[in-house]
Amino acid sequence: MKSRLLGMAFAAADTLLELDADGRVDMALGAGPCPRGATAETWCGVLLKDLVGKAGQKPLADALAAIRPNVRPAPIDALVVCDPDRVRRARLRLFQLPDLAPAVSCAITYDGAPFTLEIPDAPNLLGVDGLLSLVRGSLLEPGGDVAVAFVDVPGLAVADDAHQRAAARVAAVLQACSIDGSSAARLAPDRFALVRASDSQADIATEVRDAAAAEGLDLAVRARQAALSGVAPVEPTVRALRFALEACIKEGGADGAAAFSDSLRRTLKEADRFRAMVQTRDFSLQYQPIVDLATGVTHHFEALARFGSRGPADSIRLAEELGLIEGFDLAVAEKALQQLRRPGFGLTRIAVNVSGASLGSNAYVDGLLRLTAAAPDIRNRILIEVTETAAVADIEAAARRLTALRKAGVRVCLDDFGVGAASLDYLHRLPADTVKIDGRFMRDIGADQRARDLVAHLVDLCADLKMTTIAEMIETEEQATAIRDLGVGYGQGWLFGRPAAEPVTAAPKPVAVRRRGAVASWG
Ligand code: C2E
Ligand code: MG
Ligand code: MG
Repeated sequence: MKSRLLGMAFAAADTLLELDADGRVDMALGAGPCPRGATAETWCGVLLKDLVGKAGQKPLADALAAIRPNVRPAPIDALVVCDPDRVRRARLRLFQLPDLAPAVSCAITYDGAPFTLEIPDAPNLLGVDGLLSLVRGSLLEPGGDVAVAFVDVPGLAVADDAHQRAAARVAAVLQACSIDGSSAARLAPDRFALVRASDSQADIATEVRDAAAAEGLDLAVRARQAALSGVAPVEPTVRALRFALEACIKEGGADGAAAFSDSLRRTLKEADRFRAMVQTRDFSLQYQPIVDLATGVTHHFEALARFGSRGPADSIRLAEELGLIEGFDLAVAEKALQQLRRPGFGLTRIAVNVSGASLGSNAYVDGLLRLTAAAPDIRNRILIEVTETAAVADIEAAARRLTALRKAGVRVCLDDFGVGAASLDYLHRLPADTVKIDGRFMRDIGADQRARDLVAHLVDLCADLKMTTIAEMIETEEQATAIRDLGVGYGQGWLFGRPAAEPVTAAPKPVAVRRRGAVASWG
């Protein structure tokens, strides 16, 4: 008994088993696999291999075959059967105490609570948001060393019963592998992710394969993980993670974790680059005219950011995701104001884009008012276009900020109107002077009666709300005529002028009447 207890103490185990030459449990000491259930004694007389899940059986047989006194096989991580319905993750260490040979001892340490593999419906898995909030929580914990594991099961996205049952089992297995038993997420029908301790040993791929095999499916499984330890600070990491995760989901089929690690690394690097770019003002603006559709006269210019030769869309999205957009939008406003102050541009008006995210705090609005405080009249020559790419989080607060800007003389335009789900809500709750109808409506405006009806109603609605309308991405005379006939007031697009280094008016390109040299009022 003494040597057995010593063995148990040595292995720091929950349960100590002694096996006969066939691998049958002769004696069991310590706790059973169910925390409040029977003791391990109930295992006496049972073959150890029948107590572990399928994935553990071969390593167990190999270890039993190889064992000799003073030779310790590598530990085996396996699922141990608790009762007919439940299993528990455990680490098994086999050893042979010289004075008990040929008996073999097996020390079992449990890891996590018992869980069931028999779940009729898929357990609730997290989405990306849930996953990220867990990552944030784990990283905030002292010493929080976590990894995000990706599991691809390409054959799982089939809608029959067997596949659905298999998906439920896979979900249960992944939950059980996750850090607190509920940190697994389903990113796509055949792609999962979970947060786990970065030193966790469980062989996820094998367990998932076994779960599918239990439903008679032989599915390929690929599991990889990206460690997140040591990537402080937490918030930028979580934001970068979201960005990388979404990129990864969009890419589909690619090797989940490898793509993800790359994407995360790339994202963190690009964030650094973007920050430096804003700080040194190492970007430029191009100006594209917006014309009065009735007269062809340029009304104002939209400032569009340029990073070298690249278009801004990707960098802007990254900046929005990583919380860097506010500083950037303000830097854009600063550059546009410099342009407005240049000699010869005293009558020019410029629209700058402002991400909805930049209206999430007072910093942008305060900054813009500060930049224009010395000569406030210039505010009458600025318009901000609130882009919808990042939703406005607190719409009431954003509305208050826009009201402050309008009181100061800055005009407000809702950009890309009609494509985002929040458009009508914006129209209803954000104070604005102008609505810019998204360019996608322009594509089919000639042929598509529905698009025309929509625009006509929108124009009426805006007229009732005393707002003007702009149509963007007008490339052809036909589009311009169609849109003007529907009552849209202003137009922007290649037909009237491409974005250019300076806000200078080329010869007007009237749709109906030609009238040169005039500068229209905001009205
Ligand atoms: P947006 O504000 O809707 O800008 C219009 C986009 O349409 C611009 O793309 C412009 O170059 C392009 N465009 C103009 N006319 C035509 C046309 O006739 N046909 C076609 N196919 N395209 C046309 P760009 O410059 O790539 O900008 C993309 C988006 O990036 C902008 O969309 C805006 O949402 C964002 N953005 C640009 N600058 C800034 C900025 O300073 N701050 C913020 N927050 N966002 C910005
Ligand atoms: Mg715009
Ligand atoms: Mg747009």
